[in-house]
Amino acid sequence: MNIDKIVRPGVRQIQRYQPGEDHPGCIKLSSNENPRPPHPRIVEAVVAAMLTSNRYPESGCPELTRALAKHHGIPDDEVMVGHGSNEIIDLLVRACAGAEENVVFPAPSFIVYHLIAKVCGCEGIAVPCRDYRMDLPAMAKAVTDRTRAVFLCNPNNPTSTYVTETEVRAFIRDLPPDLFIVMDEAYIDYVTATDYPDSMRLRGEYPNLVILRTFSKFFAIAGVRVGYAMAHRDVVDVLHRVRQPFNVSRLAEAAGLAALKCRDELTPLTRETASERERVRAEVLKLGFTSPPSQTNFLFVDLGSSELDLFVELQRRKLIVRRLGQFGATRNSYRISMGTPDENDRLIAALREIVAGQPARARPVSRQESSS
Ligand code: PMP
Repeated sequence: MNIDKIVRPGVRQIQRYQPGEDHPGCIKLSSNENPRPPHPRIVEAVVAAMLTSNRYPESGCPELTRALAKHHGIPDDEVMVGHGSNEIIDLLVRACAGAEENVVFPAPSFIVYHLIAKVCGCEGIAVPCRDYRMDLPAMAKAVTDRTRAVFLCNPNNPTSTYVTETEVRAFIRDLPPDLFIVMDEAYIDYVTATDYPDSMRLRGEYPNLVILRTFSKFFAIAGVRVGYAMAHRDVVDVLHRVRQPFNVSRLAEAAGLAALKCRDELTPLTRETASERERVRAEVLKLGFTSPPSQTNFLFVDLGSSELDLFVELQRRKLIVRRLGQFGATRNSYRISMGTPDENDRLIAALREIVAGQPARARPVSRQESSS
């Protein structure tokens, strides 16, 4: 068998997704997860759902769809639940872009935009960030009459920064109407900035705007796989046509429903995460690393031209972070998810020790613009 004569051209050039590493006995700060286990009521709900799992789930995940629609105050037919928001990114690109079309996204950003474009055989146009922020004017310029979707990752994974309501409005105003504007808000529950866009209102004004949310981070059920889109009913209809019959399991639907009911109890996590990221970032800057202000549950740490291998050094001290090679970050940079306060203490102690052990000339020097 010659596999290249069977599969579509390009498929074998796709690099497999490389998940954040996990090593036994180490603190995992590599995948932006919630460091705490899910709420006990979510666990109970999943166990209960298991009892009827000899049956297929209801197609289209109607119960969670209704609950989400109610939660957000929108009609049921404007919500679509997926096997993580990853699946919805996949469905969207598959529905809109083939060999003749392209999709536009920032770089570095969530690697899945690029990956799915390759799987669909369409062109993926990666627009470099500027000073760690999405460069919206450059992204608008990259849009052509072949563009079918523009992805805004807000706040951006892995650079942790956000773009404001004013910036997003100016961006959308310049775009043609016949493409999807996808606002991937996987980290919205960690945002504290008051000028962050009101995407729900924008969605009301622009029918081509698609909002993506996930239960993976804040709600602490990354392992269950459940995320959703809020979009115009015509878009939701298309997503249902291209999805698998039972894309969301009974367990995932039950977990999502229970998680939504726990939302209020989770509210303090926003403040706690914000204060931890500020505390850790202050230390990171003090040590001479560069790290832009974060609106997420992780920090982007840029070592520039330093040859220090932070991944290896931290791993020696039982902490696993994310190298950013596959994310399209060209400099020596890392993404560090926030752990519990105790885990973050361990991280800070390890970073101090690593820097103290470096010869003075090899120590990182912070870049001016991001040291505030
Ligand atoms: N979008 C972004 C920006 C993410 O960082 C992630 C998770 N890493 C996702 C989407 C996918 O989340 P889910 O677990 O819901 O598939």
